[in-house]
Amino acid sequence: MTNHTVNPLHESIRVMESSLSSATAYLDELSSRSVAPSEQAVTDLALLDTEMPTQAQDPVATIELLSRLGSPATVATAGGRFYGLVVGGSLPATVGSRVLAAAWDQLATSQATSPISMQIERTTSKWLLSLFGLPAECSVGFVSGTTMGNFICLAAARTAQLAKQGWDVETQGLVGSPPLHIVASEEIHVTVSKVLSMLGLGSANVEKVKTDSNGAMLIDQLPELTPHSIVLTQAGNVNSGAIDPIGAIAEQARKVGAWVHVDGAFGLWAAACHNTRDLIKGFELADSWVTDGHKWLNTPYDCGIAFCRHPQAMHNAMSTVAPYLSKGFEAAPKDMVPELSRSARALDVWAALHSLGVAGVDDLIQRCCRHARMAAAALRSMGFEILNEVTLNQVVVSHPSQESALANLVDSVCASGEAWFGVTRWKGRDGFRLSFSSWVTQDSDVERLISAIAKSADELSITVLSK
Ligand SMILES: *Cc1c(COP(=O)(O)O)cnc(C)c1O
Repeated sequence: MTNHTVNPLHESIRVMESSLSSATAYLDELSSRSVAPSEQAVTDLALLDTEMPTQAQDPVATIELLSRLGSPATVATAGGRFYGLVVGGSLPATVGSRVLAAAWDQLATSQATSPISMQIERTTSKWLLSLFGLPAECSVGFVSGTTMGNFICLAAARTAQLAKQGWDVETQGLVGSPPLHIVASEEIHVTVSKVLSMLGLGSANVEKVKTDSNGAMLIDQLPELTPHSIVLTQAGNVNSGAIDPIGAIAEQARKVGAWVHVDGAFGLWAAACHNTRDLIKGFELADSWVTDGHKWLNTPYDCGIAFCRHPQAMHNAMSTVAPYLSKGFEAAPKDMVPELSRSARALDVWAALHSLGVAGVDDLIQRCCRHARMAAAALRSMGFEILNEVTLNQVVVSHPSQESALANLVDSVCASGEAWFGVTRWKGRDGFRLSFSSWVTQDSDVERLISAIAKSADELSITVLSK
């Protein structure tokens, strides 16, 4: 018998060291590579399409294979030249928090399973409520993104609005339930419609409210609200960045006991910047709010945050009870979000907020908005048409006479590797959409974007006034 046993975790250390060197080499190359992967890199992915190995492999070799074939086939969303889909990169501290979290392997279910993740959730919740100026009594749930945040907030709204009518939706379900009156902007995000389907409320069972030319709800179009209304508002239209008049809507809702929800996937961050806070005035009067960490705060993905003014409703809608979940599991994350087992995802939010500080968040939001204005001004002076009011980080671009050529323009710029963004359709016009959401983006990247657009426009004979 020998007591010279090998610690199996030395294997993890060996793999982590090798992964870190691949990961750092990847980040180092990002500013010089094409944002979109090359066709060759995508073709080479077929080499991953093998049978599952019959025998165990060296885990370092496993990760090396992933790095060799995978890294070139990524879209460089972690860099500063990705302007699609309102997503940012990952702040340096959040890259670190992910590495630490990988080593920790915490189960963020309760105090019993992870005191550190519970503490970080409590602190991060407090910081976020204070940063946004939301009521301190709100319950906070850390979810995978705004879609799931909308899910838990609307589940809480459904619970509360039916409870008032003597109906316990958790036990009685929706079959035969009293009515709910769902009101939403005609510009509602597709994921909100999906959530309405998931909750059995029906994506089409919605009274739609007309919006102005920038996509914000027209307050005089709001229907009469009732004690069983749920009003779905938006802070940050996915095209224009428009913010609904949430304060005015909430004032009307409060008179009758209607519930107001705010989908603020990225736009809620307007509240965290002194330049934009006025755009979202009165939003704190709503009943529930959701935002993403992985968009404008620049945490890695799978990071959304839901806030609810009525903790009991959220708890009733989400609680998970079982005999083995008793001591040390009281008032735990498992009772605020759908998942029982999940990662300690608040770590990333904490790391982002701690490393930026209040001033750093303010600066991040301000800088992205400034980049949006820079791009809009340059494109306008080139003869493009800007379709939205550029008050936040979004720019919707069209052309007065060559709208139909813009899809080719987008393809051409993306193929150049200089930048990445997508087409859109806004208020009946075709065009493209630029989102400035990344902490990595520098003024020089915006200049590079504009030059790439000018070059492609020239090649496609799209009239531009000057370059
Ligand atoms: C991105 C977005 C969503 C969906 O968020 P996920 O984090 O992708 O689930 C919902 N609403 C708005 C306004 C968005 O921009």
